[in-house]
Amino acid sequence: MPLTLEIVTAERVVYSEEVDVLVAPGVVGELGVLPSHAPLLTIMQPGEIRVDKGEEQTYIAVSGGFLEVIGDKATILADTAERAEEIDEARAEEAVKRAEERIASASSAFDLERALASVRRSQARLKVARRRTRAPRPEMPAG
Ligand code: ATP
Repeated sequence: MPLTLEIVTAERVVYSEEVDVLVAPGVVGELGVLPSHAPLLTIMQPGEIRVDKGEEQTYIAVSGGFLEVIGDKATILADTAERAEEIDEARAEEAVKRAEERIASASSAFDLERALASVRRSQARLKVARRRTRAPRPEMPAG
């Protein structure tokens, strides 16, 4: 029996497939989930979700949320989630830069915490975006 994985946000279904393995960023560390895993409910931290399906691996950036496993069904209710190919890398880089400036000038613990959270989710996006396999540049034609 494969594991049925559904990754949803309040806005959309990000991923819905039968998979072999799920690796998710739980608050206390990476969690590996195989079919017939014991029931589980955990909070996630910003990071990357990896899904193995046959030889194929899919990476999804997540900013936080919940992971629930019951029987052969895993459900991720994510604050935000993007597949690698959906991530705008330049936007994530800008978000890191802006948040780092806010960290440097934060005037309250609240501002600091928000800026740190922004850095963490943007860095998770960058990590996942950089997993995209880049096609090698074509050779320049001679002459
Ligand atoms: P930004 O400051 O660039 O908006 P953010 O961390 O504040 O980044 P979020 O509030 O976490 O953004 O997300 C808002 C929406 O934008 C969500 O739907 C999220 O999936 C999407 N999103 C955020 N950053 C990116 C990105 N770099 N590429 C693609 N989608 C993104």
